[in-house]
Amino acid sequence: MAMFTVTLPGGRLWTPQFITAIDAEKCIGCGRCFKSCAHDVLQLMAVDEDGATIAIGEDDDDDDYEKKVMSIEHPENCVGCEACGRNCSKRCISFSAEKTEVYSLQIEANTATIAAASA
Ligand code: SF4
Ligand code: SF4
Repeated sequence: MAMFTVTLPGGRLWTPQFITAIDAEKCIGCGRCFKSCAHDVLQLMAVDEDGATIAIGEDDDDDDYEKKVMSIEHPENCVGCEACGRNCSKRCISFSAEKTEVYSLQIEANTATIAAASA
């Protein structure tokens, strides 16, 4: 696990807090966190009647789902700014200063996908 501390131009130390989880029970799928993030980390998903998290189709209606929830699609892109959390009125986003296992797993999955595509 890695931890980063950055010295800002004014001399202050800043420790990024990376996104680690979104509480799907609390999330209302409002999209405010998505609009706050400039780093392609988040993806709005849907929950079907069986409780499974599924992708949203272009032609789908809101009535097709039980609810919408935000998911962490690319955790490896997170820069730890916490803008998403500050804009979440439901306080359902968690952060950590450490790049934990979720990042390693995502990076491994992406690397495998790239390798398969270029084979
Ligand atoms: S902490 Fe910043 S970079 Fe990471 S998901 Fe939230 S808004 Fe995006
Ligand atoms: S701002 Fe909070 S409640 Fe809204 S979609 Fe993001 S995580 Fe869910």
